[in-house]
Amino acid sequence: MGDRWQVEVDRSICIGSAQCVHRAQGAFRLDSGMQSHPVEPETDANEKVLEAAENCPVEAIMITLLGSGEPVFPPEE
Ligand code: SF4
Repeated sequence: MGDRWQVEVDRSICIGSAQCVHRAQGAFRLDSGMQSHPVEPETDANEKVLEAAENCPVEAIMITLLGSGEPVFPPEE
């Protein structure tokens, strides 16, 4: 069975660049205040979501393993 992820966006640092919305289509949406939200906060492990997190200009997207809370992105130092 594949991993399940918990996806969160820190909206205190999100600058609404919309890169995540374009990079992982269907996985993020911007609200009326141009803040990103994961469409499904709990999701199957997904390369596009990981790419979105890696490419967010302010590293506002955090991914952890559902259940254990182990960090997927940003990776543990
Ligand atoms: S890429 Fe990052 S800064 Fe841009 S909208 Fe998505 S979460 Fe916000």
